[in-house]
Amino acid sequence: MKTTASAGKDHVKGATGDWETVIGLEVHAQVASRAKLFSGASAAYGGEPNSHVSLVDAAMPGMLPVINEGCIAQAVRTGLGLNARINLVSVFERKNYFYPDSPQGYQISQYKQPIVGEGAVEVDVDGDTVKVGIERVHLEQDAGKLIHDQHAEYTLVDLNRAGVALMEIVSRPDLRSAKQAQAYVAKLRSILRYLGTSDADMEKGNLRADVNVSVRRVGDRQYSTRCEIKNLNSIRAVGQAIEHEARRQIDILEDGGSIEQETRLFDAAKGVTRAMRSKEGAPDYRYFPDPDLLPLELTQDYVDALRKGLPELPDEKRARFIKEYALPAYDAGVLTAERESADYFEAVAIGRDGKSAANWVINELFGRLNKDGLEIDASPVSAAQLGSIIDLIGSGAISGKIAKDVFEIVWSEGGDPADIVNKRGLKQVTDAGAIEKAVDAVIAANPDKVEQAKAKPQAVGWFVGQVMKATGGKANPQTVNDLLKRKLGL
Ligand code: MN
Repeated sequence: MKTTASAGKDHVKGATGDWETVIGLEVHAQVASRAKLFSGASAAYGGEPNSHVSLVDAAMPGMLPVINEGCIAQAVRTGLGLNARINLVSVFERKNYFYPDSPQGYQISQYKQPIVGEGAVEVDVDGDTVKVGIERVHLEQDAGKLIHDQHAEYTLVDLNRAGVALMEIVSRPDLRSAKQAQAYVAKLRSILRYLGTSDADMEKGNLRADVNVSVRRVGDRQYSTRCEIKNLNSIRAVGQAIEHEARRQIDILEDGGSIEQETRLFDAAKGVTRAMRSKEGAPDYRYFPDPDLLPLELTQDYVDALRKGLPELPDEKRARFIKEYALPAYDAGVLTAERESADYFEAVAIGRDGKSAANWVINELFGRLNKDGLEIDASPVSAAQLGSIIDLIGSGAISGKIAKDVFEIVWSEGGDPADIVNKRGLKQVTDAGAIEKAVDAVIAANPDKVEQAKAKPQAVGWFVGQVMKATGGKANPQTVNDLLKRKLGL
């Protein structure tokens, strides 16, 4: 395996030399769970404001948190999916800070003993593999939401999200470019969705990234002062924020200035980051173990049982596709990025040629889905329908060109591809006699082109086109070619 930390292409040019960007991420992923982390209230997205709030979430006096076991299982499965160590003992602590969207006055989180320890994720960027260390994954509560624009004098608060379970996935500073960081977030999203431990939908805010960025001169081994950019909610924003922030820091350092450690916000409209607050250190939060919650103890058997139930994950699936269906690594990577695409491809490919199934799914199907802004599970062409289109090409019933027309008909009208081909007379003409007639007619009508083709044999392509046109695209292209070459004496 190649690792690319030193690849020069990732360096940023400054006025006084080349710089390297050093990036680590803290990704908050909402746990896929019906209830919140410490209460039975609904964790569903949306809903009337304050309709998913229990007395625990509202922090009424005397209410006690109760751990949601389903969320624990999801965190453990996530840890296993990230090739990480599961800590059999972990501790929930109070992270103390006042903010009006958090009625407890603290967030229950994990600090010294998180549920998941070190792991690693492999990310492919431009044909290279980067190994990104995972430092930890801990469970914590989400906060509520303040609404500033619905009342002239007051800020309103919606506690529906307060207490919803989040996994904070902390990476090591192993990433060296905006592109790598984007690929890392995409890979995390893919793993979480395969596992079913988070919907990881950035648009709904259930996957958000905080990005730590610093820069150093190429060749330096020391890490320099970093800034954290909070709450990036799209892969595009992750890339833009990193590029802007690296450039800002390089300009300051080249002017002889120094970087202040601080938390910054990314303004997506302007494409810039700006200071939000100077960074709090851990002592500011006065963490201490939550006296309402005992340390969480898991047995190895419990962890092993969860491990047994894990699905095949993107890396394994990709390796299997390369081997089983003889696919190039690139195709296998595209097909396995989402579980739904992988399943669709496999339903098409089983019992057929893997490479042509991959071509149809990647080029035709994905292209068409993109055009209509559809996800694969909403595809009007099912895997079975696409499979029978491929079979019709394989049996010589239709040409590849007609197959694209059949695909389009199935896309907009539905139906059985074989029926469509029969009823609409799309069957390929393999009868040499019929094709010969068309060939003769085209040759007779174009004596000047015949002369050209004799001088320049590549010009035969023009004749092939004319014959295909005359036969409505149904002539077998190989037969057309053979006949033309013979008749033109090429
Ligand atoms: Mn957090």
